Amino acid sequence: MARKIATTTTTKNGNVKVEGYKPMNGGKWITKERRLAIYLRDGFICNYCGCDLKNIAVPQDMALDHLTPRSAGGSNDSTNLVTVCRSCNSKRSDKPWLDYAVGGAVDRINTNRYKAINLALAKALIKGDAKDEQSENER
Ligand SMILES: [Zn+2]
Repeated sequence: MARKIATTTTTKNGNVKVEGYKPMNGGKWITKERRLAIYLRDGFICNYCGCDLKNIAVPQDMALDHLTPRSAGGSNDSTNLVTVCRSCNSKRSDKPWLDYAVGGAVDRINTNRYKAINLALAKALIKGDAKDEQSENER
């Protein structure tokens, strides 16, 4: 089912009115450094189902989920953001996260969300400045 991005209406005087627009995921609401820093904080694991996201085929299979949705006043603070797989992200939908999280997920989320994020490391990794002890062909 396609999600409607916005409602547009043309008024009598020819102006176009746009209502209900919400930026899509992957938009400009978070920097790539902060996104990576949260993935690193969570160890590239889906906080809900615990699946390992290090070997996913396409980057779109990994996402950040707002524990308290933005529509309910949730912030973009790292304590409100957790790494999730695409499947959990769509299955949770609008459910409260405590209703969707099962098994050890609640403990995992409450541990991960309050860990400090390492923005400096994320920045270095994106810039390619992180130092490796071995050169490429020694691995
Ligand atoms: Zn998952």
